[in-house]
Amino acid sequence: MIFEGLADKLQNAFDKLKGKGKLSEKDVKTALREVKLALLEADVNFKVVKKFVKKIEERAVGHEVLDSLTPAQQVIKVVNEELTDLMGGSQSKIAFASNPPTVIMMAGLQGAGKTTTVGKLAKLLKKQGKNPLLVAGDIYRPAAIKQLQVLGERVDQPVFSMGDKQDPVDIAKAAISNAESNGHDVVIIDTAGRLHIDEELMDELKNVKKAVKPHEILLVVDSMTGQDAVNVAQSFDEALGIDGVVLTKLDGDARGGAALSISSVTGKAIKFGGFGEKLDDLKPFHPDRMASRILG
Ligand code: GDP
Repeated sequence: MIFEGLADKLQNAFDKLKGKGKLSEKDVKTALREVKLALLEADVNFKVVKKFVKKIEERAVGHEVLDSLTPAQQVIKVVNEELTDLMGGSQSKIAFASNPPTVIMMAGLQGAGKTTTVGKLAKLLKKQGKNPLLVAGDIYRPAAIKQLQVLGERVDQPVFSMGDKQDPVDIAKAAISNAESNGHDVVIIDTAGRLHIDEELMDELKNVKKAVKPHEILLVVDSMTGQDAVNVAQSFDEALGIDGVVLTKLDGDARGGAALSISSVTGKAIKFGGFGEKLDDLKPFHPDRMASRILG
């Protein structure tokens, strides 16, 4: 599960503080050095770690903390607040259009979990009373269309497809007309992924964006790829502009470096987290709850 290693190490560092009662500035600094190492081992971005530890030190080495009756608890509270902040602060929701359908465009590299996430998101939104249309816009990966159709059946929501011979821009435009005629208040567009970011991929995504003006562009990235995920997010944001991130495979990511860096590096919120392969395994991403997983 996510943050396994980090949680152990931070709890270890704080247990030492708890055993001391009154704390000196040196005690706090020693603990923070351990925190810093643990974050680096968890593959958190170096600059993010530096800024984070500096902020904690500024807050934790003051009289308010050291002179309090439970200084160790106060330090942990500060770390908890700053970890929450690092992951975006409060939970960030999808911006639904005042005039439906809300168009959500999914982007990401192949294998990140994009198509699966389209199905999961449809299920989540359906539970919230929405009536999403799923759109098969990944015409290159063999079996992507079929995969989406199977997901659509399982969620019991229709999938719009024009096969793999049409331009994704035309597919996206036709899908929105279809949604309007059939009363779908949300359109979720699956798009092509590639193994690497290339100009052709970005051009296609930009063309789809220009044609359908999505209300949300959600970038799906694999949390297990750590800082690569952060770099991918940065590149997509620069080239395409994204509104939020879906971080998948958090169930297999023992380190958590992407979760702790991506929002701070890109300035974009993690809106959802994928915690498994099942359709119910997509959850809104709550930075405060994630921070609590680290600190126990
Ligand atoms: P795409 O190429 O980006 O469309 O990727 P897919 O949606 O086909 O997903 C690739 C693989 O990742 C599939 O085997 C999915 O079941 C798996 N996957 C997606 N999200 C998660 C997740 O949150 N946790 C786990 N464990 N596996 C996931």
